[in-house]
Amino acid sequence: MEIRTDERVIKYIKRKIKDSRNVVAVLGIEMLVEGGGYDLDCNDENYRVEEEYGFCPEDMLSTSFFNAKVEKFYRFYKKEILGMKLHSTAAYDALVRLQLQGKLSAVICQNFHGIPQSVKLGNVIDLNGSININQCPHCDKDFDIQYIRDSKGIPQCDHCKVAIRPGIRLIGERVDSELMTQAAIACDGADVLLILGKNMYHDRLEYTTAPEREQLKVLFSKNEFEHNSKVDFIIRDDISEFLPLIIN
Ligand SMILES: [Zn+2]
Repeated sequence: MEIRTDERVIKYIKRKIKDSRNVVAVLGIEMLVEGGGYDLDCNDENYRVEEEYGFCPEDMLSTSFFNAKVEKFYRFYKKEILGMKLHSTAAYDALVRLQLQGKLSAVICQNFHGIPQSVKLGNVIDLNGSININQCPHCDKDFDIQYIRDSKGIPQCDHCKVAIRPGIRLIGERVDSELMTQAAIACDGADVLLILGKNMYHDRLEYTTAPEREQLKVLFSKNEFEHNSKVDFIIRDDISEFLPLIIN
């Protein structure tokens, strides 16, 4: 595919990253989609899911739905959420290179799918929880993703026989304040902030920095209507095509 971004912009961001000592990457839905997942928030998927389950994804991923219709929740969750087959992309490879250069100080993952298993990235903050760590609400016992996948119907704690709580932040719940603080501190210290796609929770996290600090903010968004005065550039290209251009 042809790169839409102006050559001068690419050169500018590339130089900033070369001179940077502290880059922070915020991973959003586009990273998931480019890695083989799908955006449940887009119209086609929304429609398909609603046809199949009678509810849209956003409804089913909410706390109230989980509490009221746990069986239906897990039918959707196991097939649609745990069923995504995710792989690494050139964008992840670029981030790993940045880490090896000692420049990548944190990766803030907004997708509860986390990063693909084969990708070795350190200091990942799973801001909205993770599909990999699930807990019994009674005894706090942890269950891995395989246990959830293998269970028939509603996954239950083998000890308490109650429904296991998935490790993701359900819609309607607040962000874990400790993780939010970690993310805010990481962003605050960055001289380059790469915002790689949108946040499915729509809770406009404002990654603010101290006014005296110079920070380059680059947002990747396919949404043509997205305008954001708080960022320096909005890139419309695929992240996995663009990052290799700016990260050696
Ligand atoms: Zn238990």
